[in-house]
Amino acid sequence: MSLLFTLPTPVTLAVQNETAAFPIHRIFCVGRNYEAHAQEMGGQVDRDAPWYFTKSPTHAVRSGATVPFPKATQNYHHEVELVVALGADASDISVQDAAGVIFGFGCGLDMTRRDLQAASKEGRKPWSTAKDVEDGAVFGDLTRAGDFAPGDQRIHVRVNGDLRQDATLADMVWTCPELVAHLSTLYHLRAGDLIMTGTPAGVGQVQAGDIIEGGIDGLAPVFLKLT
Ligand code: MN
Repeated sequence: MSLLFTLPTPVTLAVQNETAAFPIHRIFCVGRNYEAHAQEMGGQVDRDAPWYFTKSPTHAVRSGATVPFPKATQNYHHEVELVVALGADASDISVQDAAGVIFGFGCGLDMTRRDLQAASKEGRKPWSTAKDVEDGAVFGDLTRAGDFAPGDQRIHVRVNGDLRQDATLADMVWTCPELVAHLSTLYHLRAGDLIMTGTPAGVGQVQAGDIIEGGIDGLAPVFLKLT
């Protein structure tokens, strides 16, 4: 079949110590999964169930990218997050079975136009333009699940070397298997789906020229430079 026009090559993620890359199907993101971050945003953690927004796979970039400061914001924010990468189909699976469909983990940056998000909240409008930002989903190399188990590892981010976010994965309200199981009640999850599991407290503004470095102990770091 011939195509009317060409599109950019789909983004893939590198996997540590492997040559094959991980193709991205969808990007799901969890809202308010750390109590202290929910409080700094003037909200509360919802203990009844996790909730989500999405980012376009075409907006993903690999760690190490240099990207332009985005359009239409005066308050662009970093959010460092543990990323869950799925390696198998999952629909209505139990928390116990959820670990079995996790391919691996990575460290990611959920970049956010905070001013647009604030306006969306104020006007009871969707978050899409605040969260689904071009070049706004940044992913470090993935590590296979056999080589990493989320526990109380440190998660942090530095901007130009200054520590901005510093917490542990134990602060997450919903665990990775709980998130996979719950999300599998809403979607037919499949290999290639990514889940950004929420950010700890300390989110803040970045500017053109900044270098953002996110890290989770035991995982490859994630770097982003804004021009
Ligand atoms: Mn986030």
